[in-house]
Amino acid sequence: MTKQPQRKCPICGKVRSDEHAPFCSSRCRDRDLLKWLDDGYSLPGPPAPPEE
Ligand SMILES: [Zn+2]
Repeated sequence: MTKQPQRKCPICGKVRSDEHAPFCSSRCRDRDLLKWLDDGYSLPGPPAPPEE
């Protein structure tokens, strides 16, 4: 028997949802997208406040 490791959301570590794979929710998907955009463009300006 082979145990497949459960895929988890790379953003928050929760179990991911098929609907939003590989993330657990649209919120984490958006977060990842923003992270990429932030990396790619490096807009000048004050850093965004950390989200709780
Ligand atoms: Zn998540």
